[in-house]
Amino acid sequence: MKRILTLLAAFSAAWCMVAQPLPAPLTEQTLRVDYVFSGTDRSCTIALDQLSCMDGWAGRRVHLDSLALRGNGQIRMHDAQTGRLLYCNSFSTLFQEWQATEEATRVQKSFENVFLLPMPSVPVDITVVLFDFRHRVTARLTHRVDPSDILIRRPGGGTPETRDILRSGSPASCIDVVILSEGYTADEMDTFYQDAAVAVESFMNHRVFRELRDRFNFVAVALPSAESGVSVPREGLWKDTALGSHFDTFYSDRYLTTLHLKRMHDLLTGVPYEHIIILANTDTYGGGGIFNSYTLTTAHHAAFRPVVVHEFGHSFAGLADEYFYDDQYSNQYFPDVEPWEQNITTRADFSSKWKSLMGRDGVGLFEGGGYMSRGVWRGSDDCRMRTNTYPDFCPVCSESIRRLVSFYTGTATP
Ligand SMILES: [Zn+2]
Repeated sequence: MKRILTLLAAFSAAWCMVAQPLPAPLTEQTLRVDYVFSGTDRSCTIALDQLSCMDGWAGRRVHLDSLALRGNGQIRMHDAQTGRLLYCNSFSTLFQEWQATEEATRVQKSFENVFLLPMPSVPVDITVVLFDFRHRVTARLTHRVDPSDILIRRPGGGTPETRDILRSGSPASCIDVVILSEGYTADEMDTFYQDAAVAVESFMNHRVFRELRDRFNFVAVALPSAESGVSVPREGLWKDTALGSHFDTFYSDRYLTTLHLKRMHDLLTGVPYEHIIILANTDTYGGGGIFNSYTLTTAHHAAFRPVVVHEFGHSFAGLADEYFYDDQYSNQYFPDVEPWEQNITTRADFSSKWKSLMGRDGVGLFEGGGYMSRGVWRGSDDCRMRTNTYPDFCPVCSESIRRLVSFYTGTATP
């Protein structure tokens, strides 16, 4: 009996070992597409940069032709001959955040963007679309990709050192999160691995991640930097680091990002990954999370544990900030436009949100969220997406994460 129970436990722990194959004409390879998005506050251009093909596909294998969330942009891949939608995904970008800044009113700038798609065996048409905060299309590019194109790069080279922090199954069947070191020298990698373990422990202190832990792989990837720490431009401090990240993004003190997305993805060659967390070796407070792009947080600030989970709420689950300021105006949310983020509502279309959860576990309509004290509502008084002191996600955010995990893995969640 004991043996059967042990066997059952082994099966349930490794439930995601069986991965379903990708349907033809998709193959077990990854097509990486690099773009440059450029423009001003009111103009926007998408240009193709380069294509690469790598072995293996770590992304989802179900719901390939549908979206979990609308996002601020989408990428779609159609079979060029039949017109059938083969794969799509949604995302947000730093470029679109920058478009809302004062700087964007007076200068044109460009930003790198990198997307991973399953490699097709037949010619495909890839379309990238960007939306503004009113969900209107601001830019669109369609281009054909022929898999026999000799100029599709096949990058080789070394693979970075990795260490499993949480291994639940094969990359083909679990959600693969890589944790990257930024600003750690080769001599500081033991510290980095400890920090990565603290990050995963922080996730497991949140009920929804604890319940769904067997759907995730968390792998630490050692990317040594020449110098220790990260750049702080307001102090005139520039460091030579693996990912070239810096504080003061868009002149905002706490906003720590990297603009070097191509370099980051280059460094990950040979590692299966879908979602990215970057840990910065500094005690200065800051970070950021961009939906389906990356989370970046500082590993040695006292608030590291809640912040890494909060930022992952943005980058993995597309959750909005639930905090707000009394005196600050946001130009992101409008009374007649329902935000696509699942944890806030303008009540333009509340039935698409947490109506079914109302009245349970303190769920209701609480005014204030998305940086606005009026006109935007959240689902609970407090949440990981509102404060660093509250211990968990609210029921609305937890349910959003559960739905997303179910979407990615094609399995029911507890
Ligand atoms: Zn919440």
